[in-house]
Amino acid sequence: MILLLLAASLLSSGCAGMLSRATTPMPPGHPRAAPWELTRELLLREESDRILIVVDWVQGAPADSAALDHLASVAARYGQRPASWVRAGEAGEAGTQRGIHEASMCPALMDPRTSYVFVRYVGDQLDHFGQAWTRRIYCAGRPRDVHFIDINQDVHHRLRFLWLTERHLEQQTLVHEYGHLLGLSSNPEHTFYAGYPSFAGGPHCVRPDCPVTLPSARSIVYGLYRTGLTFRYLDDYCERCRQDIEEARRFWRKQ
Ligand SMILES: [Zn+2]
Ligand SMILES: [Zn+2]
Repeated sequence: MILLLLAASLLSSGCAGMLSRATTPMPPGHPRAAPWELTRELLLREESDRILIVVDWVQGAPADSAALDHLASVAARYGQRPASWVRAGEAGEAGTQRGIHEASMCPALMDPRTSYVFVRYVGDQLDHFGQAWTRRIYCAGRPRDVHFIDINQDVHHRLRFLWLTERHLEQQTLVHEYGHLLGLSSNPEHTFYAGYPSFAGGPHCVRPDCPVTLPSARSIVYGLYRTGLTFRYLDDYCERCRQDIEEARRFWRKQ
């Protein structure tokens, strides 16, 4: 059994290499060295006391708690500090979610020592799986960044197949979008733009074993293959992305 799992795991990493996409040029002026465009606030423990994921349901299937628990564990691990999620309107959060989407003003209830990630479940309003962006707002005259994810969760229902369930696809999309918030795949050595020479859609990781790869038939086939053989889902960033995080941390700590 152990030998079988070992063989499957070796096969899996070999396949990841074979199925990797080619890199594309990055936009002019894109940083070529660490920390690239990685997000210090979400990756260095001293940047805040905790990460709070505020979840708002707009329409469609209900949010899956297990997928959000997984996102919080990823945020905590890479953020090096506690991370948790709450539903919009729950204690400690009231009013921030709706207010922040409508105005670039600091909602009164935002804690200055908390990093915020606002997640909206929008059903099927987008023409892709999700989107992520960061916005600078001003609190008491001081700039701070807040982070957003929109997830188009109803698309997972249509794409579920065999052992890739809605929950796993939802989890994968959340971790993918969170990877964009972390600035992963901004190291030109292993990233590509799907529509190059257009830079729309942002950079993605060339490795199919990375949740920051572009959701596509290729990555779904790879996901089926990988989980079928190794019982692992695409729920953690690839080795190259993790190396980038380590290099960026070394750079920031030397400053
Ligand atoms: Zn993406
Ligand atoms: Zn990666």
